[in-house]
Amino acid sequence: MHKDKGDHHERGVVRSRSEPTLKDKSSSIPSTSFAAIDNNNNDNHLFYEEESETSCEDSYVRHFDEEEDGSWISWFCNQKGNEFFCEVDDDYILDDFNRSGLRNQVPFYDYALDLILDVESSDIDGSLNDHEQNSLIESAAEMLYGLIHARYIATNKGISDMLEKYRNFDFGRCPRVNCNKQRCLPVGESDIPRLTTVKIYCPKCEDLYSPQSRHQEQIDGAYFGTTFPHLFFLTYGHLKPQKASQNYAPKIFGFKVHKE
Ligand SMILES: [Zn+2]
Repeated sequence: MHKDKGDHHERGVVRSRSEPTLKDKSSSIPSTSFAAIDNNNNDNHLFYEEESETSCEDSYVRHFDEEEDGSWISWFCNQKGNEFFCEVDDDYILDDFNRSGLRNQVPFYDYALDLILDVESSDIDGSLNDHEQNSLIESAAEMLYGLIHARYIATNKGISDMLEKYRNFDFGRCPRVNCNKQRCLPVGESDIPRLTTVKIYCPKCEDLYSPQSRHQEQIDGAYFGTTFPHLFFLTYGHLKPQKASQNYAPKIFGFKVHKE
């Protein structure tokens, strides 16, 4: 008894742009998505979901011919909405140990890695056109970079890179009035990709908020992880602000509202 497996393989199925996407149903799911990936079986059951916002989708695919100078990493970190990311050292990415386990999580792993490191690689699949191929690899590269980034910012070098960005107000400020524009840090609510988007953590009120920009709101929280801001203040204890002491008290005609 043998089954012919070959006919049942679906490779790189690309949804049409007009189809509704998962993001329409729940805005808290990160946007750049491989909606369903079978981790055990390479890319055989891969469904690639297009960004629903076509306006920024086009700018996301870099054209190598037009931009010869600058690395992919610095290009990526300078994209609108990617302000939370620091530039991971090439040496860190080149070390196999730092990428352990990611091959099973990221589709087109080798191509994505080549792209991040600005290494030319051959075509992935003859049946895909250049645009489809670029989009798939670009999304995979973003995911791979994000997952490496989450690990990198837990290292001495990474955390000091993030310190520079913190000092620069790159992560925004707490919107709570009594926190007096306290600087925030990015944080994930999960370390597993594609579950929740990135939030900002205020060390003063110790609460989470949505990032200010619409672009930042769509970034996967796993690219920063659940540990980062807490490790940051463990490392730089002198930067941790006093806990917020003032709380807002609701009043009606000058009298405090009774709590039931
Ligand atoms: Zn706050």
